[in-house]
Amino acid sequence: MNTPDLSFQALEKARALLADSTPLNRDCGRLCAAACCQGEGVDCRGGMLLFPGEEGLYQALPEGFAITPDEGVLPGGRLLSCQGFCDRALRPLACRIFPLAILLDEAETPWVALDPRAWPICPLMPSGLEGLSAGFVSAVKEAAGVLAQTAEMRAFLRGQTRFIRRLQKPLWEESGAAL
Ligand code: SF4
Ligand code: SF4
Repeated sequence: MNTPDLSFQALEKARALLADSTPLNRDCGRLCAAACCQGEGVDCRGGMLLFPGEEGLYQALPEGFAITPDEGVLPGGRLLSCQGFCDRALRPLACRIFPLAILLDEAETPWVALDPRAWPICPLMPSGLEGLSAGFVSAVKEAAGVLAQTAEMRAFLRGQTRFIRRLQKPLWEESGAAL
């Protein structure tokens, strides 16, 4: 059975799995002056796309945080924006996963890949998945498996996968130009 409660439990578990895990075994923000916390945010859209139900964790918004509607990735999307610093415990899931993204394949099996939106900002991208901490990659994979167990999260991941696939299409492909 899939209910919003189960979906919220999955979200909380995924966030907990990534509570302490970071892309490198040291503070990668020192490499880039925390570039993903500046400017346009990890989604390059002026904020981070919240997962379904995640807005409920920000009813009392921390200082500097704001939530706005944004349908650029998928209908009903909500973006969390910040002022470039936060308490680690308050980080949205998108920030905990960055520079990775959780996608669904045709069989709706989750998998993890470098998020193409990270290319303009993250110096870890050229090293690929192998350049990231194995513990971090494994925690994101585990979180992906947890999230994909509920229909609501799968619908979200499907929408995000479609968006990322469009970004990955070569510009010279006619359909790639129709964003
Ligand atoms: S941009 Fe990449 S290297 Fe820099 S803090 Fe963010 S995840 Fe770490
Ligand atoms: S919410 Fe925190 S981790 Fe995410 S972009 Fe803002 S400062 Fe960085």
